[in-house]
Formats: sequence, structure tokens, C-alpha cells
Amino acid sequence: MSGPSVAEYRGLPAPVRQADEAVPQLWRRLGLPGLVDVHVHFLPPSVLAAVWAYFDRAEEHYGVAWPVTYRVGDNERVELLRGLGVRAFPSLAYPHKAGMARWLNDWTLAFAARTSGCVSSATFFPEPDAAAYVTEALEAGARIFKAHLQVGGYDPTDPLLRPVWGRLAEAGVPVVVHSGSGPLPGAHTGPGPFGEVLRRHPRLRAVIAHAGMPEYAEHADLVERYPNVHLDTTMVATPFTEALMPMPAEHPRRLAALRDRVVLGTDFPNIPYPYATQLDSLVRLDLGDDWLRAVLWSNGARLLGLDAGVSGTR
Ligand SMILES: [Zn+2]
Repeated sequence: MSGPSVAEYRGLPAPVRQADEAVPQLWRRLGLPGLVDVHVHFLPPSVLAAVWAYFDRAEEHYGVAWPVTYRVGDNERVELLRGLGVRAFPSLAYPHKAGMARWLNDWTLAFAARTSGCVSSATFFPEPDAAAYVTEALEAGARIFKAHLQVGGYDPTDPLLRPVWGRLAEAGVPVVVHSGSGPLPGAHTGPGPFGEVLRRHPRLRAVIAHAGMPEYAEHADLVERYPNVHLDTTMVATPFTEALMPMPAEHPRRLAALRDRVVLGTDFPNIPYPYATQLDSLVRLDLGDDWLRAVLWSNGARLLGLDAGVSGTR
């Protein structure tokens, strides 16, 4: 086994490859077989182009530049993840309007089927056929879902979604929910609307994306209240995020206490820093090696049902 190779980083700045050499070094030091990253995006080409164009205008939207670090093709990004030792990752896609989710699901399910290490994922939108296509996606083997309340601009308590949350709760399949108001608030972001979903579906296996930033504390309250709710670490504690949406001073202590329900997420490839920066930021929280082992591997492996073996290992 070797670390990221030069070939995998063709087209990317040398400092990115140099920084990322620390990634395999870290999981090897911890005695892990690699990493499980529950928050990775692979998108249909037209959607990905639109997302990258949006990040190109980040200063207009967010007031800060957001250069996408891993701006290379799908195959190259799969190879980069393998080189980093990411043994399992989803291809989280999400719709911004009605009539789009079924098409996204066809794409993400096909992508996972042809990509070793990629876990089948799906998404939904409040629309009349949502329950039907979510059921179809579950039958097709979807093992993780994504709901983006800010980009989607919908109310998660919409009656059209009631059977969707119910089916996911019954199936015990995790759903990554972007309910925090960062980097931009939406009409239905914040812990309130999704908290209401959890009140109605208390067994839902939810993963709060970005640990719910900037409402870190209120989302951690939801994790404490509901036994199947998790936080993902996507962009959490990085210098980039701490400058924009710093976590409360006492928050690392809460993350330590919630060890079994904090799970590695990164937002690869749409991050304005090397992958290693996310891991380094988690190490710097100084919550101990057992915490890192749980977050970087065990919790994600449990959520994605990898206990029976990991595909894509090399
Ligand atoms: Zn994301």
C-alpha cells in the first residue's frame, strides 16, 4: 500500500498532493483499514458544472472566495479517494426543484454500480411521486439518502414527505440532512423544521450535515434527544469554517461525549483546501485516538452497513 501517487494528482497543485500525504499516514497510525467518508459528491456532469460555476462566484454569494480544490474528472476523483484510503463514500446528489430527483437517483445508482467503493445513494423533493421513487431507490439498493433544505428550499414537514421520512425510518437507512443555516440561511433551515420531522419520526437515522453549523449547539441537542441522529464533520473545525462560522468554545467537549454519533464527512471535491486539512482539523480538536477511530471509521462503517466487508479495498 502506498499513499497518494503523483499520477493521481496530475492537474492539481503540488502542495495539495504534499499535504494529502498525511492522510494515509494518519489512518495507518490509528491502525485503521482506511476511512469512511459519508459526505462526498459525485454529480451528473451538467449539475456538477452548475455547482462549480456557483463556487466560482462564491464572493457574490458568501462574501468569501471558495476555490474548489479537486476540480478534475470523475475517474480522477475516484482514484484520488482510493489513494487517500477512502474505502467507502456515497455520491450525494440533491435537487433544487421538482421533477429532478428521480433523474438524479438514476444517475447516482448507476454511478455507484460501476464504481468500486461508492455506496448507492438517492435523494428526494416534496412532490407527488416522492414516496414511490424513494421506495424504488430502496429496492434498488440505496444505502444512504441526501436532503438539502437550503438548496431545495422546501419545508421538511411538507405532507408530501411524511411517507418518505416514515419509509426511511422503517428501513433504518441513513439520510444526510443539510438543515443548518450555513453557509446561507434558507426559509426552512435551522434546527426547528427538521427538529419537527424528528419529533414525528423519532427513530429516523439522520446525519446532520456540517454538524448543523452555524447552529452547532441546537443540532447537538437533537443528537442527545434522538438515539439515531448523528453529526457529520463536513468542514467542521477547519480554519476556513472557523473564520466564517466558529463553533462554540465548549463544543469540542460535546463532540467528545457524542463520540459514537459523530461521523467523518468532507464535501470532497468541493472544498477550498486539501482533504488533509479536514483530518488535521479533527486531530487538532485533541479528543483522543479512540475518538478519531470511531469518527474516521467505525461510525461510518456502521451507518453504511459495511461490517460484512468493504468493497474497493486495495
Ligand atoms: Zn455537501
